[in-house]
Amino acid sequence: MGAILIDGKAFAATVRAEVAAGVAALKSRTGIVPGLTVVLVGEDPASQVYVKNKGVQTREAGMNSAEIGLPASTTQAELLAVVARLNADPAVHGILVQLPLPPQIDASAVMSAIDPAKDVDGFHPINVGRLALGQGGFVPCTPLGCLLLLRDSLGDLTGANALVIGRSGIVGRPMASLLISESCTVTVAHSKTRDLAALCAAADIVVAAIGRPHFVKGAWIKPGATVIDVGINRIAAEGGKTRLVGDVEFDAAAQRARAITPVPGGVGPMTIACLLRNTLTAATPA
Ligand code: NAP
Repeated sequence: MGAILIDGKAFAATVRAEVAAGVAALKSRTGIVPGLTVVLVGEDPASQVYVKNKGVQTREAGMNSAEIGLPASTTQAELLAVVARLNADPAVHGILVQLPLPPQIDASAVMSAIDPAKDVDGFHPINVGRLALGQGGFVPCTPLGCLLLLRDSLGDLTGANALVIGRSGIVGRPMASLLISESCTVTVAHSKTRDLAALCAAADIVVAAIGRPHFVKGAWIKPGATVIDVGINRIAAEGGKTRLVGDVEFDAAAQRARAITPVPGGVGPMTIACLLRNTLTAATPA
């Protein structure tokens, strides 16, 4: 492998340490202890693990952490009542409603009900709009993590040709907005895109957020490009086991790229670190 390995695990630890220092400074200056409340509806095992990790890392950063577990049968009205109570609670600075939600609940109605000033996931339409307009506001945690890794690896991103593969509201679209604000020339690809290989060949930066194992071929990568692999895919491995891989054919891409994130240990750890960063921002008086 010729590429520099972008160590998201180590970088996320640095971000969490910076947040912890910021929390301590805020506490001593104002007495405010940032508080993050996560609401989990139902018992999706992956979400349970993720919420548990969020709680541990929030407390480690010196913040107050609360988890509200609701049954899978919860109605939209019941969830909206919980959100309204958290909006009104001054000890709660950040609210995160874990996705996915059960089918009887309209996720966009819930996201729109969260106070935009407590929307540390950055999914409220006001924050989405601010990001699209380049006006600040809370930025979704996974693309924010990708941007911090890119800045750390490349420095100034001005003028780079950036290809974002995927256009979801959680990753692809906000990633494209962030890169536009960095003065990159941004192309967004999706399932209807023609000739992805040709777009990759012209890209100085590739951010892959597709959800298909090894979909982006190493041979497509422009020599010297920087590759951020957001995908998390579980595939069959030897001995009847499974393992996690990204959306990029890692070994082949690493022969051509300047730098590349591994999966796991790349983008993944940055998401919670950025959630803590957003929560500190939410708790800090203007
Ligand atoms: P998603 O909502 O399913 O979106 C996937 C995107 O990929 C869509 O825009 C889709 O295009 C596009 N796509 C699908 N097939 C394609 C193809 N053949 N060529 C080009 N584009 C194609 O997924 P997501 O929520 O953005 O997540 C993407 C991946 O990132 C998943 O593996 C997920 O697990 C991972 N993820 C990781 C983190 C983390 O590290 N913390 C956080 C979030 C997500 P269309 O719009 O045309 O359908």
